Amino acid sequence: MCGIFAYAGSENAVPLLIDGLRSVEYRGYDSAGISVLDSAGDIQTIKMGDHKASLENLGDAVESSGLSGQVGIGHTRWATHGEVNQQNSHPHSSSDGMVSIAHNGIIENFIELKDQLRGTGIDFKSETDSEVLAHLVGNSVSNGSSLREAVIFAANQIKGNTAVVAISAEEPGVIVGLRVGNAGGIVVGRNDDAAVMASDTIALLPYTSEVVYLEPSEVVEISKANVALFDLENNQIHRDTVVTGQNFEAAQKGNHPYFMAKEIAEQPGAVQGAMRGRTDFAAGTVSLPEFSLTAKQIEKIDRVVLTGMGSSLHAAMFGASIIESLARIPASAENSSELRYRNPAIGSTTLVVAVTQSGETADTLAAMEHARNAGAPQAVVLELEGSQATRVADFTFPVRAGQEIGVASTKTMIASMTTLLQMAVVLAESRGVIGSIQVRTIVEGLTELPALIGTTLGLNGRLESLSGRLAEFNDLLYLGRGTQLSIALEGALKMKELAYIHAEGYPAGEMKHGVNALLGPEMATVVAAPQNSLYEKMLSNISEVKARGGEVAAIVTEGDTTIERVADHVIFVPECPELLQPFVTLVPMQILAYQTALNLGRDPDKPRNLAKTVTVE
Ligand code: GLU
Repeated sequence: MCGIFAYAGSENAVPLLIDGLRSVEYRGYDSAGISVLDSAGDIQTIKMGDHKASLENLGDAVESSGLSGQVGIGHTRWATHGEVNQQNSHPHSSSDGMVSIAHNGIIENFIELKDQLRGTGIDFKSETDSEVLAHLVGNSVSNGSSLREAVIFAANQIKGNTAVVAISAEEPGVIVGLRVGNAGGIVVGRNDDAAVMASDTIALLPYTSEVVYLEPSEVVEISKANVALFDLENNQIHRDTVVTGQNFEAAQKGNHPYFMAKEIAEQPGAVQGAMRGRTDFAAGTVSLPEFSLTAKQIEKIDRVVLTGMGSSLHAAMFGASIIESLARIPASAENSSELRYRNPAIGSTTLVVAVTQSGETADTLAAMEHARNAGAPQAVVLELEGSQATRVADFTFPVRAGQEIGVASTKTMIASMTTLLQMAVVLAESRGVIGSIQVRTIVEGLTELPALIGTTLGLNGRLESLSGRLAEFNDLLYLGRGTQLSIALEGALKMKELAYIHAEGYPAGEMKHGVNALLGPEMATVVAAPQNSLYEKMLSNISEVKARGGEVAAIVTEGDTTIERVADHVIFVPECPELLQPFVTLVPMQILAYQTALNLGRDPDKPRNLAKTVTVE
């Protein structure tokens, strides 16, 4: 969601701002712009409001403008307030043009502030909430405040979660950044030639790997020679830089046509990453060094609440199912946007496990904050280390899938599931529900997991004709039971996200209570039905769909000749322990959605209206 990049240095900032914005483009955006201080000391702004093409067009526009300058800010907008158009696109300027700001997030009290500012004669040029910031900061600067003081003043006026970068023609070498709440991060870095800040570490990697992350309610002032942090009372804060492990190379597509293809292909490595240092294949043990709860504390847990959004919620559902069945602790998964507002009864004996790819998901962070205030021990399973969620949680479990660029999550989800499975094993063993022999058996299964996923990837070529067929439908139904329900839901989500086909994930047992009314030749059904304790039930569901003229594609275990006779299409996945079946059925779901998207001419890396990091509610 929205990207920010800012540069203060000795080179021409203009092309560097465009490059910086390109590296945060994957987060999702619909318009883009930059502001630069030119050699005459004036702020020049060039912005575009034309959806996905705006960064391309912005690149062309800045090139032909001949604009140059050594300090500037750039923004890719994900519109929340006001249409996608040039006026609403960022940066926004103060009335006298002396200040320019780019904003990520939502200013909840913008109507009130807008009215107040209008009352002082200010004429608003956009429909955005963000423009109030330009005027609040601009007014203070014109009254003699420094840019930093002005940003701090504005920060104290606004409500909501926000990240901002600002420049002022009064202080040519300086850029000020602000983080309030959880509207995406701000990360800062510096080398001998420049200081840079961005919403994402990846944009800083061409400059430095030593970075500083802003906490909520912090301000940073950067210039070519200096980076300084402050609180909202303008007191300086000292924080050591951290060396980031992210690798710029990994963020490139390599020889894959799309990031999503690359990320699907990387899943054997992703699950391996998630097991590194946790599952000891030689000893046949599982441990979570990050989990510093004592056996006594684990014994006291009477409930596990997992929470997340989108694919992370589906990983959480899988986790809840495994934790309850393996560790015998009541466990449930809940959408964070619901959990945060319903005053849940969470307390010191509830273990809360948040699942979030970015660690910056606004709703998940809010749910986590609720849990923290309720005194619950809290774990987070995430990809992006250094993100806000790690600071809220007591225990951080990086899934180590490697940076995911495709908006629709694939390898992060599978690595999150791997991490949660290990958590279930650790909880179960600690509580004495399973012993070392059972753990060893599970580990033997886990040893095979990367290879099992690798084998499933081999399906790629065999799913093409089925994807072509699915592309012909306007409605798809995805069915599963048990842990396969989370996979059916994820399959439907992927199809919606990538191919824009209406797809519903459903518990197969629920069909008779309504969905059956939709069955017929107009809707195809995708079924996850590997050989397990619920196989017979799934077989009946498939027959019910067939009896009503529906077309069925079934994901089944290699060697299954029964479903082969009933279903129209079968996808064979390798035989494996039931615990691991969701991993092998997930992969064909992802491939089907990816290939169907390509069949329909969609860009799987940048689904319309979606963003990678969802930093607004
Ligand atoms: N709320 C602002 C707008 O609609 C910023 C959105 C964003 O985070 O890009 O312009």
